[in-house]
Amino acid sequence: MRQKLVAGNWKSNGNSQFVEQLLGALKAHSDQVPSEVEVAVCPPLVYLAKAEELLRGTAFLLGAQNVSAFEEGAYTGEVTASMLKDVGCQLVIVGHTERRSLMSEEEAQFADKIRLVLQAGLQPVYCVGETLEQRRRGEALKVCREQLLAGVAAVTPEDASRLVVAYEPVWAIGTGETASPEQVQEVHACLRQVLRERFGEQADLIKILYGGSVKAANARELFALPDVDGGLIGGASLVAEEFLAICKAGINA
Ligand code: PEP
Repeated sequence: MRQKLVAGNWKSNGNSQFVEQLLGALKAHSDQVPSEVEVAVCPPLVYLAKAEELLRGTAFLLGAQNVSAFEEGAYTGEVTASMLKDVGCQLVIVGHTERRSLMSEEEAQFADKIRLVLQAGLQPVYCVGETLEQRRRGEALKVCREQLLAGVAAVTPEDASRLVVAYEPVWAIGTGETASPEQVQEVHACLRQVLRERFGEQADLIKILYGGSVKAANARELFALPDVDGGLIGGASLVAEEFLAICKAGINA
């Protein structure tokens, strides 16, 4: 059985004081996090080392929100996968819709990033998802399938079990609108099938998270779906009480 994972994507929010407060609150109430649920926080890059220090000795995992598509070298401003590993990260979000739409990043870069993240011994959390227009045209499954296959192009079956996929419908991110359980399960089952075709039985070890306006109020229903292995949480991960309640929804879901 796949262990549930709940990962908080803080995006470009907060400052040093906020990092201390939020992680302090999560640590103070860590007894509320069920031991069978893995929980990760992904603060902004510049606070990763501080977060690692604050989380040391706890069960919380640390993730980055982005990574360079290059290895070490003359790439001004880029941070490599091995640097993220060096500061204590275990996970890296790759292909978030905001990077696709606002930074014009594309699948070929994501495939390189995923390869380097796995090579560095980290877990990529690869995001896929359709826009509202694509869904209305009946293309949701096709788009997600294509994005997934392109992103995992360089992943070997041996590394596949370390991959995490996040289905994040673009129209549900930060909008308060959540995909219905039926919509979520349909896409997750499709993604699982694509992973089976690509990686054989390793596919059953790959976690597929749902992301898009997950809150304490809807998390339990979503996490209970057969192919949903937890969530990638944006806005609600910035409020300790709400995030902890979402983590709790992972138990026996
Ligand atoms: C996200 O950006 O990954 C996300 C899921 O955001 P939100 O939960 O705020 O919709």
